[in-house]
Amino acid sequence: MFESLSQRLSGVFDKLTGRGALSEADVTEALREVRVALLEADVALSVVKDFIGRVKERAVGQDVIKSVTPGQMVVKIVHDELIKTLGADGVELNLNAVPPAVILMVGLQGSGKTTTSGKLAVRLKRDKKKVLLASLDVYRPAAQQQLEILARQAEVGSLPILMGEMPVAITKRALEMGRKEGYDVVILDTAGRLHIDQELMAEVAAVRDIAKPVETLLVVDAMIGQDAVTLAHEFNEKVGVTGMVLTRVDGDARGGAALSMRAVTGRPIKFLGLGEKLEALEPFHPDRLAGRILG
Ligand code: GDP
Repeated sequence: MFESLSQRLSGVFDKLTGRGALSEADVTEALREVRVALLEADVALSVVKDFIGRVKERAVGQDVIKSVTPGQMVVKIVHDELIKTLGADGVELNLNAVPPAVILMVGLQGSGKTTTSGKLAVRLKRDKKKVLLASLDVYRPAAQQQLEILARQAEVGSLPILMGEMPVAITKRALEMGRKEGYDVVILDTAGRLHIDQELMAEVAAVRDIAKPVETLLVVDAMIGQDAVTLAHEFNEKVGVTGMVLTRVDGDARGGAALSMRAVTGRPIKFLGLGEKLEALEPFHPDRLAGRILG
């Protein structure tokens, strides 16, 4: 679908026969292609600019080693820098708390929060944790039932639904049930909206103040594109994000949103969602995503 970055760059460097250090002119030309590749992968413009600046600093004056072409050399520098920006391999969930450890799931409506809550429950159960799922989404019809069904499929606990109960009250009841019944982890699935909305943020912040989560995971659809920056910034600013989950990585999106969100918040991407099934969740590996972003 996309021309790979190596192919693009080989075009740029074909005319260079000499070896030695990469000149500023060569690098500038090559980075124009890198910039296009990153924008095509939906990395936000501001993030692309910073990134290109860093790569340029590293690349100009680098000796091209004998075994590679200048194009491959630039691709390697870009790749390394990309991995550095995307962050460390497989950052584990932090569950260091007097049980139950609370995981707060936040994000826009349709991002995959509820599904990811179920996926995390399956994963934690495999690690011998006793997990309780509770839905705070009192706005979307059947959202609470959806989580209840997932809990049944995952064979974990779910907080009984009380019609008309509001999120803060649900949170208190979930914590109480978690404590009383010896749960290790309580996963709170918050309501989303189509767009960031101050009322929603205030509600999530109120829940956070009561629940004191050890993890607040921002769930983001990989298709989000350029909006990733504002979204990640807003959620991090208003509710404090400890990690991110990128969903629908099984689709066509190149995953540039991960780079944007990581650059904006400095928080680790912890998992990738790779399908609708409860097993379709993988720990994040920056090298795999870097390859995908570069095409
Ligand atoms: P929520 O509104 O944020 O709770 O979103 P849901 O969890 O209800 O997910 C919305 C839709 O996206 C559902 O149809 C899910 O099955 C689907 N979904 C969630 N995660 C993934 C994923 O990683 N890949 C794919 N292909 N679909 C997903």
